[in-house]
Amino acid sequence: MHIRQHTLKRSYIFEGKGLHTGRISRMAINPAPEGAGIRFCRTDKGGVIIEALADYVTSTARSTTIEKDGVAVITIEHLMSALYGLGVDNAFIEINGDEVPILDGSAKPYIDAISADGLMEQEALREYYNLDEEIHVTDAERGSEIIFYPAPETSFDVTVDYNSKVLGVQTAHWDPAIDYACEVGTCRTFVFFHEIAFLFSKNLIKGGDVDNAIVIVEHPVVQDELDRMAALFNMPRLVRNPDGYLNNVVLRYPNECARHKLLDLMGDLALVGRRVKARVVATRPGHGINTKAARILRDKILNDNK
Ligand SMILES: [Zn+2]
Repeated sequence: MHIRQHTLKRSYIFEGKGLHTGRISRMAINPAPEGAGIRFCRTDKGGVIIEALADYVTSTARSTTIEKDGVAVITIEHLMSALYGLGVDNAFIEINGDEVPILDGSAKPYIDAISADGLMEQEALREYYNLDEEIHVTDAERGSEIIFYPAPETSFDVTVDYNSKVLGVQTAHWDPAIDYACEVGTCRTFVFFHEIAFLFSKNLIKGGDVDNAIVIVEHPVVQDELDRMAALFNMPRLVRNPDGYLNNVVLRYPNECARHKLLDLMGDLALVGRRVKARVVATRPGHGINTKAARILRDKILNDNK
């Protein structure tokens, strides 16, 4: 079956704070011609264009950053996941700052906007990469692994295990029979309570509120500490629910955290620049190993074309 390339029917504007920098950016997601792929343009930096490809990844510290000519775009993964999951091949993203808005911490705002109009079919056929051998990517230090098995269609299996009593061992799965928009795209990012103080000290969370993250409270904490955090985030009363999650959000799925890791994986692997026909099995995935895998696949594709 041949599938044509798709782009957007119109432009979509999003504005909001970045999770890591706290800076507000305004972003336009625009249609693009067939064959263009996904490209970012920093309108505040003379229009520098950065292709959304693994070649340009410069940082994976808690989010994925691409950079070209000294100009970066931070936290691209949720938008990349939405475009991949919805089947958008070509888009031109203009942004007037360095970080993509975190919005609600998932891909849902993009999905809601784009799905309301549907996509524009283009003339050219979508090109796939048919994997001809197994590829194993490992990060021994973090105990992470991603294996690609040749397969007639793309699917993803994710297992997360952080030795957390709250999370337990969670799994998530996507294949083309599963509705990405509902089952994956709505799932929000998460953070462990004990990491938040550390992240603040490292200047890694400046988003200023916790509306956009699930917070896992692994160990019982004194209410004083939660009250201090509520004040810091300018939130009403925070409590630890009996299941160990903070009451700042209501879970959309019991395994929302694993589903979010799947969302991130799909977004990071979109940086291959071509859809890969493979069964992807990921254990404890993260932006570092995800983008390393994307680069390995991309190199393989470029070598095959030589
Ligand atoms: Zn994420």
